[in-house]
Amino acid sequence: MTARAAIDYALWPALVAAPVAAAFGLLRAGAHPLLVTPLVVGPLTALLFVLERVRPEREPVPDRRFGLAREAMHFLFDFELGYGVALGVCEIVARLVRAHAAVPPWPSHWPLPLQVLVATLVYEGTSYWQHRALHRYSSLFRFHALHHAGARLDFARAVRFHAVDIGTASLVAYLPLVVLGAPDSLFAILGVMLSALGLLQHANVRMRTPEWLDRIVCTPAVHRHHHSARRVDSDTNFANTLMLFDLVFGTYGKPLRPEGPPRIGLDDDPIPADFWGQLVGPFRSRR
Ligand SMILES: [Zn+2]
Repeated sequence: MTARAAIDYALWPALVAAPVAAAFGLLRAGAHPLLVTPLVVGPLTALLFVLERVRPEREPVPDRRFGLAREAMHFLFDFELGYGVALGVCEIVARLVRAHAAVPPWPSHWPLPLQVLVATLVYEGTSYWQHRALHRYSSLFRFHALHHAGARLDFARAVRFHAVDIGTASLVAYLPLVVLGAPDSLFAILGVMLSALGLLQHANVRMRTPEWLDRIVCTPAVHRHHHSARRVDSDTNFANTLMLFDLVFGTYGKPLRPEGPPRIGLDDDPIPADFWGQLVGPFRSRR
């Protein structure tokens, strides 16, 4: 194996393991759980920004609708808004659970890594169906189309979601864990893991993973397949983390090639050029 190929295969596991290990370390050092995700994910994002320029997977495709400034606006006014509202609702529910449940059923005494595994399965069990429903019904896909639009796939796509899309996705996925009484430290680890996997799934960084891993974890190759312009391919691989539900419910799509499908984006792309149109378009679209 050449040095270049060795780096190709080492990057993904290193860039998943290092942030998760850092999150565990910060919590052990007494960091506030709310600070763990920004402290870890900020540097990872900066590193991916550099890696996309040093070892890109594909030629960057310019798209005047989605320059870096526009992607930043979607992060601030779409992603953060939807995610913030979802977390606010979760916090209210968490307080109600703490006030009314004498002993929350979540197994907080289990080792944290085991809790993370169980939490991932609970998270995926609802988020899988939410993502699948977005693709199944055109009235919902309108809100998800912003995430699929455009032939350029890079780290910024991981946070380009319509507020309704990311808000409902976060609520549906986190609420069961909140109701079960999962602790803040668990949400901190889960947040870092989801962020690292999501950024890597979309990053335009040359990475390779063994084929057998594609059936276990949502690797970049698996998720790039989901971003294919061919609907038959994009209607597969709805997972964020573990591929279990795609395999069990028959929506696993084997990646055609590791670098991503020949065409990325939407064939019938409904997303307009202006930011306001991108925000309100799904509310008035009849498609
Ligand atoms: Zn999708």
